[in-house]
Amino acid sequence: MGKVSIGMLGWRFDEEELLDENGEFRPLEEMPPGIRDRLIRLDVIYNAPCNACWLIHGDENIDECNRSKYVYGEPLSEIILCEEHEPDFVYWFREDGGDAYRGTDEFEESFYEWFLEGNRAPEGYEGMEYVSTDPDDLPEPPKADPDEHGDLMGDDVAERVGLSDEEIAASGVDFGAEYPGSSEE
Ligand SMILES: [Zn+2]
Repeated sequence: MGKVSIGMLGWRFDEEELLDENGEFRPLEEMPPGIRDRLIRLDVIYNAPCNACWLIHGDENIDECNRSKYVYGEPLSEIILCEEHEPDFVYWFREDGGDAYRGTDEFEESFYEWFLEGNRAPEGYEGMEYVSTDPDDLPEPPKADPDEHGDLMGDDVAERVGLSDEEIAASGVDFGAEYPGSSEE
């Protein structure tokens, strides 16, 4: 058995830690905690607005945000990104100091600060390459019980990193200028 992604690219799972010998999902309680936490978070963040888009548009214009296709980092300090912004994240992580925050509490916020300062990947920079070997016939992952895993099921990024819309606006970055062709034009 190999590694699989579920719903979003980025987080990879060992198939045998997820599935039993019949190809069915194991009960959440039987999964290693790290795997279980990711799986529960995925259910919350699947198709959620891209964090980078959100930094640009905020809650007021949440409809302008692209849906996330990628997830990086640890559960609850994960960064979720659309196709347009994934290369910015990968560039930050690989080339501009992001790697130093791997596994730390500052991981998420450091990327947001970097992004809010107006930093971006150079034109044409490629994000991670994914080989599409994932099976698309995985069964539905089990649903988590909010009573038991409620701490993993919240979805308020702003609250988590302590950034308000005002702070984002006060950063003074003219995001619109970065995106010719975006709806901000
Ligand atoms: Zn985005």
